Amino acid sequence: MKDNKKVTITTETTWKEITPGGIVYEAGNAHNYKTGEWRSMRPIWHSEKCKQCLLCFPVCPDSSILVEDGKVVGIDYDHCKGCGVCVNVCPFNVFDFVKEE
Ligand code: SF4
Ligand code: SF4
Repeated sequence: MKDNKKVTITTETTWKEITPGGIVYEAGNAHNYKTGEWRSMRPIWHSEKCKQCLLCFPVCPDSSILVEDGKVVGIDYDHCKGCGVCVNVCPFNVFDFVKEE
């Protein structure tokens, strides 16, 4: 994945190096930034309670439910914004939802 970087246009620059519309910045990606710092509430996932139904995984708007080999293994706190959707969707009350310190 490319970083968001400025393209310096010179007389040697080809059309392939310039983004559509001549915009000189490549598109950014929120995955490159630790947006979890915005969070005011933190979901706490309890592995011993989890039934691995995976209902929480597709509803997370920040793709922060970590899944390996088809099983939830934790939360990506670098990107989780604490929206609480996973907490609300879980039918087994696996999560605690606590104020971020
Ligand atoms: S609180 Fe929101 S952003 Fe964080 S893991 Fe749950 S659904 Fe994703
Ligand atoms: S919705 Fe709840 S029980 Fe289902 S995988 Fe997520 S945390 Fe586990």
